[in-house]
Amino acid sequence: MLKDFSKYLIEDKEKKDTIDALFNSKSVAKKFVMLRSIEFNEVLDKRVLSVSDLDTSTKFCPKCHKKYGEEENFCFDCLVSLKPLSDKISVVDIKTKPVFDFKGKNSYKDFNSILTLENLELINNFKFTTKSYDLIVRNIKKTALENMDKLIKQNHVNLNELSVYEHVLLFAKSFVKVGYKSYGQELGYFEFNKIIIDERQTETLLITTLIHELSHFILKEILTEVLCKLLDCSKNLYMECLIDYILIYSNFTRLIDEYSAHCCEGRFTLYGYQDYSSFLNIIALMDDEMSKDEIEITKSIGNTFANSIKDILESVIDRELLIRIKKDFENYQTEPPNYEMLRLENCEQLTREGFLKSIWLILSEGFENSLKNKEKIEDYYKGLI
Ligand SMILES: [Zn+2]
Ligand SMILES: [Zn+2]
Repeated sequence: MLKDFSKYLIEDKEKKDTIDALFNSKSVAKKFVMLRSIEFNEVLDKRVLSVSDLDTSTKFCPKCHKKYGEEENFCFDCLVSLKPLSDKISVVDIKTKPVFDFKGKNSYKDFNSILTLENLELINNFKFTTKSYDLIVRNIKKTALENMDKLIKQNHVNLNELSVYEHVLLFAKSFVKVGYKSYGQELGYFEFNKIIIDERQTETLLITTLIHELSHFILKEILTEVLCKLLDCSKNLYMECLIDYILIYSNFTRLIDEYSAHCCEGRFTLYGYQDYSSFLNIIALMDDEMSKDEIEITKSIGNTFANSIKDILESVIDRELLIRIKKDFENYQTEPPNYEMLRLENCEQLTREGFLKSIWLILSEGFENSLKNKEKIEDYYKGLI
């Protein structure tokens, strides 16, 4: 079945060029250095300016963020009342509970009414178009930006004052709750709309971890909304549970999920610093259930999802922020990059037709398996509420 997908493969040129550049001639390296000296310095200058006025001020203007002394009451540039600096909450302490909605005609109240043969037929008929997919991606992007806008306004955040890590953290908090841990080996993990990161890491690794875990959330959100669209139902905890299950029940879906997260991580950090361990762990535990070619096609599916997720992430992590992330990496990373792992990279993606077919395969097989494992999914749900 998976082999049939090879006819839909096309080159992911952008990714291939980036990786080739790392392995290739000095002229590319030179170009990279030039880019650094001009653009990085520009970015750094801006940062220095924004933190140069740290003094004894106790108040700030909620509009222009200029700082004022205790005796001042108003900002006469913006004509608004000043606020005490203590009103500014650090991004790390900002609490969020973002909601991503999807409305449909039906609203399922239990797994018995979702997991039916009629619904399996609806999935198999797959009345779903590229246009519907693009709309879902657009809505996720829009909701995240609206959430971030609210967070900025409610907490009087001045984006220019944020470190790169805080900027990415605030963006992540526009999608999911973010919690911290300071135990165990994992750098971070994603569990049901919550990212947990280990705060003992350096800021650069925290950024990588955040982007990786955020990619898991976005993939889950995309698939949940596709399933809701196919069943014409509103999104709720049941639908989310079902997709959570579909993403972990088989090595096929786990590989897609993990590979897509690694690809996103690679795009927004420096190549050579990604941690492929979770992907490799899955492969190591597999017997001969998938051939080499099938694993490559699975990676291409993950890569194609990653391109949609990158599109969403790029709405905030724009070119300037990307340069700052990479610069921070270069400054604070003591380990040399490991390009060896880049050989794992797959630089192919699916055509739009092939991509829709792969979504159909994931949902159809996953739903069919869910029908047989209703109890497992119910137990998982109980663990969440
Ligand atoms: Zn002002
Ligand atoms: Zn992962």
